[in-house]
Amino acid sequence: MGKSHPGSVDQGAGHAGPPTRRPPERRELDREVHLVQSSELEVKRSKRTEKARDWRATRAIGADGEGVVGTVKIGRPVAPLPQRFSHERLPTPIECSHRGVDLVRATQAVADLLDALGVDRENESLAGTPERVARSYAEMLTPERFEATTFPNDEGYDELVVVRDIAFSSLCEHHLLPFAGVAHVAYLPGKRLLGLSKLARVVTHYSRRLQVQERLTTQVADWLVTELEPKGVGVVIEADHMCMSLRGVKATGARTLTSALHGLLRDDARSRQEFFALTTTAP
Ligand SMILES: [Zn+2]
Repeated sequence: MGKSHPGSVDQGAGHAGPPTRRPPERRELDREVHLVQSSELEVKRSKRTEKARDWRATRAIGADGEGVVGTVKIGRPVAPLPQRFSHERLPTPIECSHRGVDLVRATQAVADLLDALGVDRENESLAGTPERVARSYAEMLTPERFEATTFPNDEGYDELVVVRDIAFSSLCEHHLLPFAGVAHVAYLPGKRLLGLSKLARVVTHYSRRLQVQERLTTQVADWLVTELEPKGVGVVIEADHMCMSLRGVKATGARTLTSALHGLLRDDARSRQEFFALTTTAP
């Protein structure tokens, strides 16, 4: 039997002012969120926070180039990715940096930014720009909900399942500029199989928020570990960053490659080689 759950709580997590000062539709969203955040879930979330702390510790080690995430130019070998792999059931990640968009404030803020940049907003074609920009950011920062449809692995399929070239775009949290590219997502099935489209959905889901490529990579991999309890997980993301090509170093054409490996895809050389042979673009 498949299981389902909301992929995220993506609206109005109740961080803005007191309810009396807020528009009715926002209060409505708050109630929805509180329903999801039951006390049971709070317990699960605190356990997950401990887990996340472990992972952060592991990643800190990786800063020397042997960690979970390696950021290298295409053509160089990807650093081996030592990471503790656990079949311990983790709760579905529902936390999200998106707190709901205040379109009125965002529109005003864009207008202020244009004024501060010395742009003449009297020009007719710019009249609707602040609102258009605000709506664009709202769309780009609002993850879609999705259900993690899984199926029993009755035939005991135990080869790699790979979906490659999943196109995505996201926003760099340092410059609010887009980065875009492709993700290759793979897993070695355990007791359950995941609907193939969900491998793409999870990439889209985690890309629609302010991101850094390294975090996007680990979030997709961690989600698969959590939801599927597979024998192994591998994620490679290749992306072009506008903040590198349009400004600063102006490194047009430079591609950033990140990867995250878990389980047999990390520990077993043959599985790892197969994964990279299937996913890594030739230099
Ligand atoms: Zn950036």
